Amino acid sequence: MNQRILIKNTTIVNEGKSFIVDVLIADGVIRKIGTIDIDPTYKIIDGTGKHLLPGIIDGQVHFRDPGLTHKGDLYTESKAAVAGGVTSFIDMPNTLPNILTVESLKEKYAIASKKSLANYSFFMGVNGDNIDEIIKTDTSQFIGVSDDGLYFTKKGNLLADNPETMEKLFANCKSIIAIHSEKEEIIEANEQAFREQYGEDVPIKYHPIIRSTKGCYEATKRAIDLAKKHNARLHILHLTTEAETHLFQNDIPLQEKKITTEVSVHHLWFSDKDYERLGMLIKWNPAIKTEQDKEGLLKALLDDRIDIITTDHAPHTLEEKQKPYFQSMSGAPMVQHSLNCMLEFYKQGLISLEKIVEKMCHNPAILYRMTNRGFIREGYFADLTLVDLNSHWTVAKDNLLYKCGWSPLEGTTFTTKVIQTFVNGKLVYDHGEFHEDTFGMAIDFDNKK
Ligand SMILES: [Zn+2]
Repeated sequence: MNQRILIKNTTIVNEGKSFIVDVLIADGVIRKIGTIDIDPTYKIIDGTGKHLLPGIIDGQVHFRDPGLTHKGDLYTESKAAVAGGVTSFIDMPNTLPNILTVESLKEKYAIASKKSLANYSFFMGVNGDNIDEIIKTDTSQFIGVSDDGLYFTKKGNLLADNPETMEKLFANCKSIIAIHSEKEEIIEANEQAFREQYGEDVPIKYHPIIRSTKGCYEATKRAIDLAKKHNARLHILHLTTEAETHLFQNDIPLQEKKITTEVSVHHLWFSDKDYERLGMLIKWNPAIKTEQDKEGLLKALLDDRIDIITTDHAPHTLEEKQKPYFQSMSGAPMVQHSLNCMLEFYKQGLISLEKIVEKMCHNPAILYRMTNRGFIREGYFADLTLVDLNSHWTVAKDNLLYKCGWSPLEGTTFTTKVIQTFVNGKLVYDHGEFHEDTFGMAIDFDNKK
């Protein structure tokens, strides 16, 4: 029988409120929330002085499995996720092979069922090569379709650069279409100009000038216009500019939105001031931009033009990162520290705990139409994380769980700590220890609603 766990006297943060209560977990779900008497068969956890949040749902990660497992895999990266309070994730299609067929998607689910400590779902990849096949299938079977990362293997495959392909998809897709929004022609012209001046070794500080605001804004504007024309369900991944935030609405509830967007934690945390200190380690696409962009993104998150927070967790080996500009891989690992970063903003008075939970837990579940996840509600899956809001620790090599073994946050001191994480009612992460006897589940969702 499943052990029943009673978390006594904890402050739950849920649906806009925080209050002290007891939570009973049984058979994988939240059985009861209220004042609950102790039973000798329960495992008791004292939640006094601690905060219990719904498990974080990370809507964009690259766990590199299958095929790129020298960077990370579904076991190592899900382990890092759980240690960071993340209980569910949606992984991107740019693995090897790229996930461009239903068969390869099924294979990825099969791998995850034997390796992932957190709950998982996977985007179906879509690009110019498989678009006709995709729209012939029942697209509601996918949690979403995405081109994110696929353009790195073949130029000219970015949906944002192919309005005709994009329109075909918008007219025929029942699931969410999540796109990487940058205009390649603008970036290429900028690359050319900088290559002429600096050769291969362009200083990293020019990265946001090369992958410019203009490149982002024009791509996002065009994608939104086309989606509106077809009444399609468009999600713009990892927004990076203040300018683009004005293209999104906040006057309707998320449930009714057809056009949504997200911000990745690193675009809230870093700015172009950090290139000098961290160099290629913070080379991301789209690029880390200015202080003003960072502030604009936070503002849009707080006023609901931005719907969710993701990590775009993208491990590479240090060797792959520390190369001259054009060879250095874009992306970095973030999934272990996304909650800590956001809680640091809370400590600085920039965002409330309730808003963090809305953007990292509730809204990803709503946006991706997940079944019974993302909230602390009776009957929902017991995906929970218990955090201590007063505990100092410093990110260092010896406490990183990523296979790649580095983080752009090394040396950063956080003042909050994830203590325990429950996945489907199982205490998977417990004060630095892992219980690995069960794996996460495939996330249920309903794209027919
Ligand atoms: Zn990505």
